[in-house]
Amino acid sequence: VDVDGTISPIAPDPLSAYVLPGCRLALEELSQHVDLVGVLSGRTAQQARQMVGLDGIEYWGGHGVLHLANGTVRMAPEAERFLSAVTDARREIESWDMPPGVLIEPKPTAVAVHYRLASDHGATQTWLSERLAPMARARGLELLPGRMVFEIRPPGLGKGWCIQRIIHERGLQSIVYIGDDQTDGEAFAAIHSWRTAGPNRVGVTVAVENVEVPPHEPLTADFVLSGVRGVERALLSLAVRAR
Ligand SMILES: [Mg+2]
Repeated sequence: VDVDGTISPIAPDPLSAYVLPGCRLALEELSQHVDLVGVLSGRTAQQARQMVGLDGIEYWGGHGVLHLANGTVRMAPEAERFLSAVTDARREIESWDMPPGVLIEPKPTAVAVHYRLASDHGATQTWLSERLAPMARARGLELLPGRMVFEIRPPGLGKGWCIQRIIHERGLQSIVYIGDDQTDGEAFAAIHSWRTAGPNRVGVTVAVENVEVPPHEPLTADFVLSGVRGVERALLSLAVRAR
């Protein structure tokens, strides 16, 4: 599962977000019955761990390039070679005279530029994308639009890449993934192509609908749940059946 907007209501400020207790309970219960319960977030792996608060499940952060296991975070070597480009991008963005309500969030392998607190979302989004897109391109980085956020990150190392790797490394035969944002769309696409590429593969993708803050483009998934409360109900029902 993704975290923000999936098991945690979207908050005006990322620091005030929290995971719904029913989601936590369900993930804990599910972890007793399935091979792997994992959280895959754009936050750092430690932040995801702190928010979800469960041992016995696994945490991937930075959209998949950070993995927390046995108390240690490891960064994918594929991401490491982009770190100086990401730092340069952050320094340049921080030097800009930003419209009001824009927050710059440095991440271990990315820079997030949030505009949820801007008074004019549309104008701020346009202002940002016109500047961020060429800047990211010039540095060999990728610009990913999300819910009221742009993220500049190493190219091709998103949730789709991570899900593919998890399935392969763990030899999974079935997977369910739930997410709400454009970056989760990459995970859905990876699951859809994996399940059609071989026999006896079960992949289920679930998008979370949120009328308040729609994603830039509708996500293609097998099922759609209504908001984080819908996810909570679905996870609890899965947990009961898994017993
Ligand atoms: Mg999300």
